[in-house]
Amino acid sequence: MSGGGAETPEPVRSDGIPLGRIAGVPVYLAYSWFIIAALIVLFFGPLVGRNFPYLGAGAYAVALGYALLLLVSVLVHELAHALTARAYRWPTAKIVLTLWGGHTQFGHVRSTPGPSLLVALAGPAANFLLAGVGWIILLAVPLHPVGYLLAEILIWANLLVAIFNILPGLPLDGGRIVESAVWKATGSQDRGTVAAGYAGRIIAAALAAAVILPPTCGSRSRTCRWSCSLRSSRECSGWVPAPASATPVCGCACPPSAPVR
Ligand SMILES: [Zn+2]
Repeated sequence: MSGGGAETPEPVRSDGIPLGRIAGVPVYLAYSWFIIAALIVLFFGPLVGRNFPYLGAGAYAVALGYALLLLVSVLVHELAHALTARAYRWPTAKIVLTLWGGHTQFGHVRSTPGPSLLVALAGPAANFLLAGVGWIILLAVPLHPVGYLLAEILIWANLLVAIFNILPGLPLDGGRIVESAVWKATGSQDRGTVAAGYAGRIIAAALAAAVILPPTCGSRSRTCRWSCSLRSSRECSGWVPAPASATPVCGCACPPSAPVR
């Protein structure tokens, strides 16, 4: 995400742990990040351990690798915003990496729809690029199964960050894109902001409904496929839906004897 318009925001201690400066931009790790990192380690550690028993406690280190790859993906996203903004001489105050991802805060800036659009696009574009790099690594480099799993995580983490952020409503980057388009069409930034704000409310309601409503067959199948992928990245590529029966059932079959690599 990116945020602009604040009056000369200053880095403060409550932003979290200072990680230093990258290209002159101060980067902070919010304390809340440790919550999501702990949840990822506690959830994925046992899964990794089941599939790679020889790792022992190292399975939790691999799970921590998941969390760190997600963190790096978010950092690259925010840096892309910050560096694109710098090209237009926007004052960049800081990047904060948080429980929910991160945000880049800019100083007060007078802009136009074009630069605003490009700054918004830069973050998701960087993640699509990283996902592409991960995909090339997966295809071109012979990897240890754990490395293969981490490369898959790199791809999925970046696709997740990119796709989530281009949802077309504020405060996401997609909302900035909508804002810029309406701004360009009407000549009024305020109208753009209002339109993107309404779109953001619709998206929030749709996401809430997706969480509350019971999962469909399709979403369960995706969960199964992800689970199979964790069990054995290559052998479970033969994922199949559960056979049709009198009572519609959804699920997947992953060979119980799939070799652990
Ligand atoms: Zn963003």
